[in-house]
Amino acid sequence: MEKVKQGKHVFTFGVGSADGDKSMKQLLGGKGANLAEMSSIGLPVPAGFTITTEACDYYTTNRSEWPKGLKEQMKNGVHFIEEIMGTIFGDSEHPLLLSVRSGAAVSMPGMMDTVLNLGLNDKTVEALANHTNNERFAYDSYRRFIDMFGNVVMGIPHEEFENAIESLKDSKGVELDTELDTKDLKELVNRYKAVYRKATGYMFPSDPFEQLEWAINAVFESWNSERAIKYRRINHITGLLGTGVNVQAMVYGNMGDDCATGVCFTRNPSTGENELYGEFLVNAQGEDVVAGIRTPNDINELKNVMPEVYEELLNWGKKLESHYGNMQDIEFTIQKGTLYILQTRNGKRTGHSAIKIATDMVHEGLIDEKHAVKNLVEPNHLDQLLHPQIDSDSVDEKSIIGVGLAASPGAAVGKVVFNSETAEEAAENGDSVILVRIETSPEDVGGMSAAEGILTSRGGMTSHAAVVARGWGKPCVAGCSDIIIDYEDKSFTNGKITVHEGDWISIDGARGTVIEGKKEVIEPELDDNYKTFMTWVDQFRDMNVRTNADNKEDATRARDFGAEGIGLCRTEHMFFGEERIRAIRRMIISDSFEERKDALAALLPYQKDDFKEIFKAMDNLPVTVRLLDPPLHEFLPEDKNDIEAVAKDLGIKASEFAHKVRSLREFNPMLGHRGCRLGITYPEITEMQTRAILEAAVELKQEGHNVTPEIMIPLVGTPQEFRSQKLVIDNTAKSVFDDLEDTIEYRVGTMIEIPRAALVAGQIAKDAEFFSFGTNDLTQMTFGYSRDDAGKFLGEYLKEGILQEDPFQVLDIEGVGQLVEMATRKGREQKAGLKVGICGEHGGEPHSVTFCYQQGLNYVSCSPFRVPVARLAAAQAALNSTR
Ligand code: PEP
Ligand code: MG
Repeated sequence: MEKVKQGKHVFTFGVGSADGDKSMKQLLGGKGANLAEMSSIGLPVPAGFTITTEACDYYTTNRSEWPKGLKEQMKNGVHFIEEIMGTIFGDSEHPLLLSVRSGAAVSMPGMMDTVLNLGLNDKTVEALANHTNNERFAYDSYRRFIDMFGNVVMGIPHEEFENAIESLKDSKGVELDTELDTKDLKELVNRYKAVYRKATGYMFPSDPFEQLEWAINAVFESWNSERAIKYRRINHITGLLGTGVNVQAMVYGNMGDDCATGVCFTRNPSTGENELYGEFLVNAQGEDVVAGIRTPNDINELKNVMPEVYEELLNWGKKLESHYGNMQDIEFTIQKGTLYILQTRNGKRTGHSAIKIATDMVHEGLIDEKHAVKNLVEPNHLDQLLHPQIDSDSVDEKSIIGVGLAASPGAAVGKVVFNSETAEEAAENGDSVILVRIETSPEDVGGMSAAEGILTSRGGMTSHAAVVARGWGKPCVAGCSDIIIDYEDKSFTNGKITVHEGDWISIDGARGTVIEGKKEVIEPELDDNYKTFMTWVDQFRDMNVRTNADNKEDATRARDFGAEGIGLCRTEHMFFGEERIRAIRRMIISDSFEERKDALAALLPYQKDDFKEIFKAMDNLPVTVRLLDPPLHEFLPEDKNDIEAVAKDLGIKASEFAHKVRSLREFNPMLGHRGCRLGITYPEITEMQTRAILEAAVELKQEGHNVTPEIMIPLVGTPQEFRSQKLVIDNTAKSVFDDLEDTIEYRVGTMIEIPRAALVAGQIAKDAEFFSFGTNDLTQMTFGYSRDDAGKFLGEYLKEGILQEDPFQVLDIEGVGQLVEMATRKGREQKAGLKVGICGEHGGEPHSVTFCYQQGLNYVSCSPFRVPVARLAAAQAALNSTR
């Protein structure tokens, strides 16, 4: 890329040429870079210019001042457009009208404001009418402009303009906007101006350059609007300067029946089929399609209405796909039979279609496997693909309330809520909700994010609800016109079934069905495209992905999902079940070493059988087994009645047992008698577990299996703790090998989950054979936020922006990340090639996986369903790496 000239704030583009190109996304925003790119590859793009994100940043940080030179460059930009379009801004004969749109480096659909028809005033409107020989169209554009300008630039609620048009329609006795004639529209312009004046105290500005300056400011300011900030937070968008501002010549889809406007995807975003997919409206403007006011036509009908334009659109779609190596989402306008492409961007899509498009495009020779893995599927798409679906057998016809558009797949089951705030509150209280709206707007993103699924009664596949839900992989049924929603009554009905706020419903975003009650969900099946794609993923991945599993079912599932071993087997999870819990309780209440040994001996066969099953499921792969970790009282009852019942079961006096329970209670169990502290105070627990692990392993070896157990010591903070436990393990191993007259290779390592362990990692690494970051505890102890109680305030922290992410979900790279980096470095300085992994919840979260890759970790370990997500995140980290 040529070095950007200092002080250059405006980049022009017109047919066949442009100042910028697609590599300038950070500076021009995604839309601006694309417009420049499209222009230079010859697409019919209306001429325009882009004001840089740097200018937006300057405006934001310099109290709404423009940077030096911007004003003049902006004026030159307008002249550039005038020359190409052959029209003049503010001219009384051939006026140029402009659109002003936002566009950041990362796409934020519907988040930022747009102003259309800018440049209209009492004079230019007449000129437009004469020039187009369409007075009605000119005044219709004028009233739309006053509405948008008033709303976007001056913050006047859109409803105030809506009320004015509704009252005019009432007095005329008509229902549709299209039934208003030119005289009515002129009257409407006056009424809109009055609304503007009343709300602002000023006359509507008639100077086109003044309009333009104000509109540019409004786009700059929309970058820091509440909804934009929220969107960025939810979507983890950080590190951007601001938004670009795209000023472009208007072209019209509403000048008559040889005009149209529409949006289309180059492939079906729900199924991935290779076909144009989208909607258009004859004689309409862009917002008419998106707003869902008129029901748009299927794009295939364009073939009949304007066959040549359809062919042209199809060809441009193909050209754009091969140029960008990705499925495109295109906005177009047809003005008097001429096609203009207004925008193109990589199309949002469902997980299923992402995989199909990626594999199809490789097979069609448009892209290679590397490009497909790096760019065409997001880790969270896979999450979506693995989502459960509603079991259709559990749905009887009578319980179907309605069928809408299958806008975003997956099953969602929840209680109905009708507004965003209630959805957010309910989610904070741990309730599952379905957000039901007539249609959604950017104001609803908080509630949409909090809800399990979204249902709207209006709008198409490109409506706000559909686009946002698909992007997030959230189940959504859109445009379900079978139901009527009553916000006041907090209910909706299909005429037969009425559902109130708080009632359960289920939605199937893959079929578009809305079902009464809580339905069964089933696991998805993964098709051949998925399998093919994942083999490509693994070609580019060099970090291992293991799973956290403590039973054979989870281990088997994870292995099917591609897990390369177990990174964490939490042995305490094996102590549940009537017999086992009785045995561990006996162990806990033992008063003497002998008694405890006996109780542990009863537990040993259970543990050994479980380990055998898990090792078998992971034959040939490493399995890390962690020794007992939680505080012992977690295995004891709390309630008086339960205490009595358990005492009876154990055959001891209730008062005696109650005393024991009381004595084990801790003020702060998370920081109490748990982890290796248990093994140090009761080495016989470590002995029993080690014996179970190694006996299981040796026996399996003798049966022909290949097992390499890795024994992991939890909650280590000092090298002495580690050494003391390792000694117990090694001594037990000797005794097991003597007893069985056979041996097996095993390794002893530690979790790094206490900040002190990270600080003294070099010393610990002298004896430890591997490290595994327990980032759940490490996060808890680094922040000092209790894992059990943080829910009480984290919501508020996120809302207030005190934290950008929940650190228990997304690794806090700035803080906890430093400990990970330091411990890995110190560990490997002490012991070159030390094996290091992560087994906290973060091991399956794509951003955290990328960080682990950058730190040179050998593996991440996560829950079975996240294994494919982690595999893709690891491959992408490798492909994007400069490491
Ligand atoms: C951890 O602390 O990150 C961990 C994996 O262990 P647990 O969640 O069992 O405490
Ligand atoms: Mg832990």
